[in-house]
Amino acid sequence: MVTAVAQRLASQRKEIDDTLATFALSPTQLQEVKAKMRVELERGLKKDTHPTASVKMLPTYVYRTPDGTERGKYLALDLGGTNFRVLVVKIRTGMRNSVRMYNKIYAIPLEIMQGTGEELFDHIVQCISDFLDYMGMKNTRLPLGFTFSFPCNQTGIDKGDLVSWTKGFKATDCEGYDVVDMLREAIKRRNEFDLDIVAIVNDTVGTMMTCAYEDPKCQIGLIAGTGSNVCYMEEMKNIELVEGDEGQMCVNTEWGGFGENDNIEDIRTRYDREVDGGSLNPGKQRFEKMTSGMYLGEIVRQILIDLTKRGLLFRGRITERLKTKGIFETKFLSQIERYSSHLCLGLDSTCDDSIIVKEVCGAVSRRAAQLCGAGMAAVVDKIRENRGLDHLEITVGVDGTLYKLHPHFSTILKDTVRELAPNCKVDFILSEDGSGKGAALITAVIDKYLYAMRF
Ligand code: BGC
Ligand code: MG
Repeated sequence: MVTAVAQRLASQRKEIDDTLATFALSPTQLQEVKAKMRVELERGLKKDTHPTASVKMLPTYVYRTPDGTERGKYLALDLGGTNFRVLVVKIRTGMRNSVRMYNKIYAIPLEIMQGTGEELFDHIVQCISDFLDYMGMKNTRLPLGFTFSFPCNQTGIDKGDLVSWTKGFKATDCEGYDVVDMLREAIKRRNEFDLDIVAIVNDTVGTMMTCAYEDPKCQIGLIAGTGSNVCYMEEMKNIELVEGDEGQMCVNTEWGGFGENDNIEDIRTRYDREVDGGSLNPGKQRFEKMTSGMYLGEIVRQILIDLTKRGLLFRGRITERLKTKGIFETKFLSQIERYSSHLCLGLDSTCDDSIIVKEVCGAVSRRAAQLCGAGMAAVVDKIRENRGLDHLEITVGVDGTLYKLHPHFSTILKDTVRELAPNCKVDFILSEDGSGKGAALITAVIDKYLYAMRF
């Protein structure tokens, strides 16, 4: 009797271990991810392979990081992360570290995120209007930087066609259209105030710029949050989509699309496929779906459902809660891993169940951090080779809830980069409010340039 129970437990344990083992990546597998990412970075940059590349390597028309002499007062919008924000940013000249910000957070209801494009942009303009009233600034026409955290085909700093929505957005009649035009038209429709839209900026770029303002060695921006993405300073001569061979330009890699050409199917699991299938953009953003806050909880949920169905968890009972999409937010995942065993999940869990849930979360978030690390290793080695260096020292500016809130993500990410790119010394600095402040800094860099042009 006793041995029968012990045997059953051992075999259940083995089933769980086997399931979680599909999330463990060997050093060789991680090297392969790095190598494949490198191939895709190159394919995105080259004219003939760009149209079919999974990593789009979009030009940003940001040619330099700030040098500390920027100044002025700017409006900034930040759309596409956890919150929508409107900000006013004051940059004083003279010393670094002299940025002041006032901001307000606005909710974007689901029906607006997934309604029509006009409704979305009208809502944004309505929020700006509220903010300007609140600040008593309706009649001051400030230059505006728009942090828009989605892939855009840019042909200038203030021109960008939305390639496709990602994350939780799916407003109609936006893909293929210029985001700045859509904002301008919404401002016109409201006919209440005027704005000078100077720049459209990806959040990775804003983050890099914000950190570069403090640390000139910062030439990479990373977001590990709701979504996942990286930008970095690339040599103009390698950016075949843009004329000119001199100097550098920041490239928005959009590495979230990595895997769309089926080249990482060997490491995707049935749970990844289920999450992908149930998402707003099936088949797209496969790397993002393995590495970012919006999806990690969903992967965890799929595993828990499966383990429960197989009688290995929650006494085989699938609760309503477990059936609910989106119950595991990044915050929640982080808490489960931070505080141990007896977290009551309201999932009818016994003590053993809580341990298993924690193991599942650990396996999923560990793989996410390692994959980001492997991708980052490809990026830093590319920069090192671009510059013909044996050794590169570089800083990454980082933002995002996953990086900031999760107890192990950042450590595993850094360890992985160290192992996979041993010829690079990579520092990571947290950006405080990167995306909003960054849009203002870019606007300030342009302002300074336009001002200089007048003489
Ligand atoms: C978007 C990127 C963005 C990232 C982080 C992704 O879904 O495609 O443009 O930088 O999320 O917000
Ligand atoms: Mg070129």
